[in-house]
Amino acid sequence: MSVPSTARVVIIGGGIVGVSTLYHLAKDGWSDCVLLEKNELTAGSTWHAAGNCPNFAMSFGVMNMQRYGLELYRGLADEVDYPINYHVTGSVRLAHTHERMMEFEHAATMARHMGLQMDVCTPEELLQHYPFMELHDLEGGLWDPLDGDIDPAQVTQALAKGARANGAKILRFTPATGVRRENGEWIVETEKGEIRCEYVVNAAGYYAPRVGEWFIPYGGRPVPAAVMSHQYFLTEPVPEIAEWSERNGRKLPLMRDVDTSYYLRQETTGFNLGPYERNCQAAWIRPEDPMPDDFSFQLYPDDLDRLEWYIEDAMARVPLLGTQGVSRNINGPIPYAPDGLPMVGPMPGVPNAFEAHSFTFGIAQGGGAGKVAAEWIMYGQTEWDMWSCDPRRYTDYTDNQYCIDKAMEVYGHEYAMHFPHHTWPAGRDRKQSAVHAKVLELGGQMGVYNGWERANWFAKPGDDTSEEATQTWTRSGPWEPRVREECEAVRDHVGVLDLPGFSRFSLSGDDAAEWLRGRITGALPKVGRMNLVYFADERGRILTEMSVLRHGDDDFTLITAAAAQWHDFEVLKFNLADGLTLSDQTRELTTLIVSGPKSRDLFEQIAEADLSLGWLTHQNAVVAGKDAMLVRVSFAGELGWEVHASFEDMPTIYAAILDAGAKPFGMYALNSLRLEKGYRAWKGDLSTDYTLLEGGLDRFVRLDKPQDFPGKAALMNEKQQGSTRRFVTMIIDAGDCDAPYMSAVMRGDDLVGEITSGGWGYRVNASIGLGIVRSDLAEPGTELEVEIYGKRCKATVQPDAPLWDPENERIRA
Ligand SMILES: Cc1cc2nc3c(=O)[nH]c(=O)nc-3n(C[C@H](O)[C@H](O)[C@H](O)COP(=O)(O)OP(=O)(O)OC[C@H]3O[C@@H](n4cnc5c(N)ncnc54)[C@H](O)[C@@H]3O)c2cc1C
Repeated sequence: MSVPSTARVVIIGGGIVGVSTLYHLAKDGWSDCVLLEKNELTAGSTWHAAGNCPNFAMSFGVMNMQRYGLELYRGLADEVDYPINYHVTGSVRLAHTHERMMEFEHAATMARHMGLQMDVCTPEELLQHYPFMELHDLEGGLWDPLDGDIDPAQVTQALAKGARANGAKILRFTPATGVRRENGEWIVETEKGEIRCEYVVNAAGYYAPRVGEWFIPYGGRPVPAAVMSHQYFLTEPVPEIAEWSERNGRKLPLMRDVDTSYYLRQETTGFNLGPYERNCQAAWIRPEDPMPDDFSFQLYPDDLDRLEWYIEDAMARVPLLGTQGVSRNINGPIPYAPDGLPMVGPMPGVPNAFEAHSFTFGIAQGGGAGKVAAEWIMYGQTEWDMWSCDPRRYTDYTDNQYCIDKAMEVYGHEYAMHFPHHTWPAGRDRKQSAVHAKVLELGGQMGVYNGWERANWFAKPGDDTSEEATQTWTRSGPWEPRVREECEAVRDHVGVLDLPGFSRFSLSGDDAAEWLRGRITGALPKVGRMNLVYFADERGRILTEMSVLRHGDDDFTLITAAAAQWHDFEVLKFNLADGLTLSDQTRELTTLIVSGPKSRDLFEQIAEADLSLGWLTHQNAVVAGKDAMLVRVSFAGELGWEVHASFEDMPTIYAAILDAGAKPFGMYALNSLRLEKGYRAWKGDLSTDYTLLEGGLDRFVRLDKPQDFPGKAALMNEKQQGSTRRFVTMIIDAGDCDAPYMSAVMRGDDLVGEITSGGWGYRVNASIGLGIVRSDLAEPGTELEVEIYGKRCKATVQPDAPLWDPENERIRA
């Protein structure tokens, strides 16, 4: 087939993900799309994958993607008339500990939100599903009836057939060799000719970093990924399995011993064992061993020694495994992003370019990833909030060593539990605050926020600060008494929190105000004041929230969450009107939060400023002899100011604030304090899964203003029809665990909503859940239940006002 001179979309890479993206584009009517594959389809990681297809994931977005993909696969063979070996066998996931059982309970709850049934089992129930297993050290497990395995090449070819049938083109043996941008279009270069297109997609699997380099001159960044070598081996046939299969007319369910870290599956009549080993191996990381230009259909040499411990453990679990020898080993490359989740979405910094790569479970996720990638391209938004997979979640700190260290850590802990008070040790100290050393000296126990080190809590001498102490889902732990003290200091006295990495943009130019009004849902502040503003997508859903400080008629600073840095910058940049100037100043200034009833007294000692200026004002001031901006606002919900100053001056200011008696507090305390005020957290409470009206943000929406902001029509429509869901604050009789994200909210047997964030409020002494429920249940006093790690807990809907200081008197004091 010859290379066409134009196309609407060019996808680079013909693995399952690229092909699924093409399939979804073509199916939605975008038939003028071309996929370039340098070899044969599936030549990268796809051809040799084991093909396991779980629904299970602890990321809601990823679980949704898998749920959708597996549903698609179940009907695909018939839909496109292409045979696929797909065995829906079900799976058992084993738990060695109580904590693992709790994780399973929560996964089962999340699954229920999307109509999936997963059952938490006793050891005896596990045996009914999987008779060949020893139970010696098991607490129980999880049964997922829709897990299974699929032939990766066949499913890819089936998707390709579906794409072609809808008019899309696939060019095999046609490597893309480069890209350039001309007159607002992409030119994708190949040895057989060039294609001019509107959109381009990097779906090049473990070659994604190579392809990504071509985009750096157009605003791109090095793709943050490293390649891991992953193995599974097949055994000779096992007569007992053959006999069981024959008798039952099906394959054995798949088994995952996640605490040991392997899966074991039936392959024909033998076994397939695939461990994720701690002593893992990153590939192609040494200068003398670079990634070859072409590794199509190739494998690494066998390295079974690395797996020995896992093989022995698996043989103790399923003794049948030891009865036959190894028939074949597969050792192939998998690309890992630093958190092990895929990259699907807009390519950071580059217009009309998208990414769909770094899949560690690309067979299970490919179906859903294609849908998500295609939606980004066609509509600029996705059905489900996909922030967990958005490439913009990694910013400027992910150098090569970071990527390798994180990939090794994630791979070696592939099935690890992600406890709420645990932080992972690899890749740390990429971005430190101006007062980092002082924070450590004060006992700061650090966490990472967009690469910035911030204290989560402050330990006292003798506190247990070990990693082991964090291996719990409970609220209590060494941090708890300290977090309580920190919250009480903010409530009764004054606290200081070092907050480096607040994302900060400057926007100015003629008519900047009018342009902003056309983007946000609400109103701009007057000069000298600040407002919280919201950006909606076309469906009226919550795209993001920013604080806007107005310095002059057309001169603004916009401040947003650390994690939102690149995302929010693009919300502004890609729609910017001609003549406006936008810059990212995150690295130029840094921030302290000083909050508590004694904060005015504190600043009277050390600041030259007008401390009578009201709530939501800002001013240039001098603090401890240094220039600073004081902003009268408090995410902690007490009288307070944010201090914004240069990195150079901040140590002096921080020292003066500590000397004046402020107690340092950390991010855990801040989270508790903001929950009590009902302040929403980014990508928990604030996400594109909810509209602004559902999110209870009505007072930030001005439907009567003349500007036609994105989402206005959708919100007007929703206002007329009435919202079906509503944001509420609940008090929960929670026991020793607060409600995690996506805990189910129940009314009798009905699932009526979900928790978007939960935690303990030390000022109100209660477990708080922020969440979304059916509108008819949003009335204050409504009694509901929240399912926390499998335990039903009574929950009561609260009035639509902050739990702490509902009239905001303390803030305005
Ligand atoms: C041993 C092993 C077992 C696995 N088991 C499972 C499993 O059980 N379940 C599961 O879900 N996942 C599994 N995986 C992971 C899975 O294989 C990958 O996640 C998935 O194949 C990724 O698909 P992809 O389309 O992103 O990348 P790839 O399949 O690597 O496709 C990328 C394609 O891009 C092409 N390409 C690169 N550069 C260019 C260029 N310049 N021009 C044109 N084309 C280019 C390549 O040739 C390649 O075909 C396993 C992986 C390994 C190694």
